[in-house]
Amino acid sequence: MSYDCAVSVRVPDSLEELVTGLAADPGCELLAGGTDLMVEINFGRRRPASIMSLSRVTELKGWSEDAATGELVLGGALTYTEMLQPDLAGRLPALAQAARTVGSPQIRNAGTLGGNLATASPAGDTLPVLVALDAVVVVESADGRREVPVGDFVTGAKRTALRPHDVVHSVRVPTRRTRQEFLKVGTRNAMVIAVCSAAVVVDLDSCSVRVALGSVGPVPLRAHEAEELAGEVLDWDAGGVLAGDAHRDGALERFAGLVSAASRPIDDHRSTAAYRRHAVGVCARRALERVAA
Ligand SMILES: Cc1cc2nc3c(=O)[nH]c(=O)nc-3n(C[C@H](O)[C@H](O)[C@H](O)COP(=O)(O)OP(=O)(O)OC[C@H]3O[C@@H](n4cnc5c(N)ncnc54)[C@H](O)[C@@H]3O)c2cc1C
Repeated sequence: MSYDCAVSVRVPDSLEELVTGLAADPGCELLAGGTDLMVEINFGRRRPASIMSLSRVTELKGWSEDAATGELVLGGALTYTEMLQPDLAGRLPALAQAARTVGSPQIRNAGTLGGNLATASPAGDTLPVLVALDAVVVVESADGRREVPVGDFVTGAKRTALRPHDVVHSVRVPTRRTRQEFLKVGTRNAMVIAVCSAAVVVDLDSCSVRVALGSVGPVPLRAHEAEELAGEVLDWDAGGVLAGDAHRDGALERFAGLVSAASRPIDDHRSTAAYRRHAVGVCARRALERVAA
C-alpha cells in the first residue's frame, strides 16, 4: 500500500513482503514505534525518500520460548510495555527494570527492542542488559537469516552490523538459571536518558558473573576483570551469594574500582566523564549486592 505524498510509505503485511521490499529499496527506512525515527525526521536530521512500517508484520511481534533450545525469542517489534508484563518480566527481570526506566508510558507503548538495537545509542537502555544476558540478534533479509551476538551487533556509537536491507527479526536469550539486576543513573527520576547504567547477571549454571555497562563508552562495555573478581568472591556452593568476608576484605570496593576502570566515558551535556566513571562503579556494586545478597 502507498500514499500520495513526498515520502513513499508502505505497510507490508508479512515478513516476506517486508524483506522483499527492502531488497528492492535498500535505502528505505523502517518505522517501528517511531520514537527515534520521528524525532530525527521532525528535526530535519533525516529525510528518507521511502518508509516501511512494521505495524502489520506479526512475525516481529511479541515473544515466545523456543521449544527445541529453551531460549526466549523476543520479537524485533516487542515493546517496552510488553517487557514489563509479569510473564516476561518474571523471566527477564533486568530487561523489565531497564524497560521501566525508558521514557514515559506513551514511549514505552510505542518504542521497541528492535528500534533500540538499530538506533544503537550509547545510552540505549536494553543494550547492556542484552550483553549481560549473552543474547544474540537474529537478522533477517532477502538473503536469509543470520545471528550476531549483541556485543558484535553494536559496532560503534549509533553504528551496527545491520546492512541497508536487513531487519532485526528477534533477539534470542539463553535460558539459564540467573539472578539479574539493572541500575541506571540519570539527571532526574523519569523521562531521562542514562548518564550511566550497569547490568549484572549472576549465572548459576556456569558459576560466573557478567557485567555490562551502558552510556560510558561508544558501545556497551563488559567489565571482564570485575567479572572475574566477582566470580571469585561469590560462594557458588551456597547458591552464588556473596561470601561472608567479601564486605570485610574490601572485595566490593575493588569490584567497583575495576568496573570504573573498564568504562570509557566522555564529558557531555549530561555529565562529566569523572562522575560517570565513579557512578557506574557504584551502580554495578549495588547491583551485585542485590543479586548476590
Ligand atoms: C521522549 C523520549 C524518551 C526516550 N527515553 C529513552 C530511554 O530512557 N532509554 C532509551 O534507551 N531510549 C529512549 N528513547 C529512545 C527510543 O524510545 C528507543 O530507542 C526505542 O527503543 C526506539 O524504538 P522504536 O520502535 O520507536 O524505533 P523507530 O523510531 O521506529 O526506529 C528507530 C530506528 O531503528 C530502525 N528500526 C526499527 N525497528 C527495526 C527493526 N526491527 N529492524 C531494523 N531496523 C529497525 C528504524 O529504521 C530507525 O532507523 C526515548 C525517546 C523519546 C522520544
